[in-house]
Amino acid sequence: MTLELKMLINGRWVEAAGGRYMYVSNPATGEVIARVPEGGVEDVQVAVQAAKEAFDDGRWSGLSPGERAAVLWKWADLLEANIEKLVELECRNTGKPVKLARDSDIPFAIDNLRFFAGAARTLEGRAATEYTGVHTSIIRREPVGVVASISPWNYPFLMAAWKLGPALAVGNTVVIKPASLTPLTTIEMARLALEAGLPDGVLNVVTGPGQVVGEALVTHPDVAMVSLTGDTCTGRAIMSLASASLKRLHLELGGKAPFIVFADADLAAAAQGAAVGGYVNTGQDCTAATRIYVQEEVFERFMELFLERVQAIRVGDPFRPDTDMGPLISPAQVERVAGFVDRARAAGARVLTGGGRPDRLELAAGAYYLPTVITDATDDSEVVQEEIFGPVVVLPFCTEEEVVARANNVKYGLASSVWTRDVYKAMNVSRKLRFGAVWINDHLPLSSEMPHGGYKQSGFGKDLSLYALEEYTSVKHVMADLTGQVKRPWHYTVFGKPED
Ligand code: NDP
Repeated sequence: MTLELKMLINGRWVEAAGGRYMYVSNPATGEVIARVPEGGVEDVQVAVQAAKEAFDDGRWSGLSPGERAAVLWKWADLLEANIEKLVELECRNTGKPVKLARDSDIPFAIDNLRFFAGAARTLEGRAATEYTGVHTSIIRREPVGVVASISPWNYPFLMAAWKLGPALAVGNTVVIKPASLTPLTTIEMARLALEAGLPDGVLNVVTGPGQVVGEALVTHPDVAMVSLTGDTCTGRAIMSLASASLKRLHLELGGKAPFIVFADADLAAAAQGAAVGGYVNTGQDCTAATRIYVQEEVFERFMELFLERVQAIRVGDPFRPDTDMGPLISPAQVERVAGFVDRARAAGARVLTGGGRPDRLELAAGAYYLPTVITDATDDSEVVQEEIFGPVVVLPFCTEEEVVARANNVKYGLASSVWTRDVYKAMNVSRKLRFGAVWINDHLPLSSEMPHGGYKQSGFGKDLSLYALEEYTSVKHVMADLTGQVKRPWHYTVFGKPED
């Protein structure tokens, strides 16, 4: 059955003004599963206008933090009560394994929303006092206004939660544009937000192409801030478009995480961690461990253990409870990954496992690509330098100094990990890695309370934690005169004489 969904603007479910549609497929089967409106510039105008009115009249920002928290908490409860439906939609739309959606992405996203509901009540300024002696200074933290959230297809529900949670908690209003490939759970989230009591116009969903709907949002004069999770190229395009109106940006872009295994590491744990970190979400993860550096003396032993783990990954139907890896997001993504692997081979790299589509008949219609391990690639080759969302490259190294330099030698700076039993080495390498996250003897875990975000061309601005709340607020200094005099002692420096 094909779902026929609408966009949410000002509390009403609407079709696109132009009457057009986009079709959404299940990447595991190739079947069309839904139809959503193909929004355009006119729809963005109406949605931003609704969000602006909702912001300006204070129907949301005028509530106390406790009142907003109650709505967000109820929303989280409704999401939890509807988890089976959300899991079903997310897995059918993305092809991600059901155990990942049900036991990780969706419960974590709900926990994130609960964190932001509570955290909004803790916002405060630093101590305010009489810095001049004759004025009281106050710090106000205020919502920025209308926020445009542009989300990706790899974690549609989780990324929507990361964007909506902090933005709404502090009183902003939002227009969210989900990735065109994966709009289904965002629309369902918005339906449940209305049911939870979010006032009309506070959350609007406009579906449609990034280059139309996304660009119209980024260039709209009434949008105060844009939050994007996506490709580094998209981040650059948005930064350039946003420069005309100097909008605030929050960009979570690509990654190419190094995973550094020293000779003294627990190799079984490192091999297991690399298989988990490398192929999570079928490799479509910006923190995925895609560059594995292994100290020479243990390289062969690590490879044996790692290949054994990778070959045990169960590729198949996302709805089977024992499936570890589903399809990639689309046939186009299969072509893209295959292109990288084929070019790596042609340049002299070796593919040790995977490197093609599975030859099982029951997977033929899906966008499947086997878990792939590559070695003998050069540091400047594209499989080592570019985010691919698929294969993992394993490379040997000799010294700590060398591996830190090589790990840092990419344009990205999102996540990294170091595997060693030596606490001094772990701490020193963590300090030298130019990445927004460093795990020690692990790779991937996040928590609602701690920030997540990149260095370098992985973007800027933090998701999760109190740091994310700060991203979505503006700091205002209010300074009140305490003297009540007509002429203040300092006025003469501008006008008049000291003795006047
Ligand atoms: P994009 O960066 O194009 O997509 C992310 C979001 O940005 C989508 O909602 C997209 O809309 C929107 N968008 C695209 N172009 C514009 C624009 N000019 N202005 C405003 N919004 C825009 O990623 P892709 O889907 O093209 O994926 C390509 C590669 O990007 C992947 O192979 C992967 O390597 C990387 N990627 C990284 C992610 C991360 O988390 N780091 C997430 C997703 C992709 P629409 O869907 O309509 O195009």
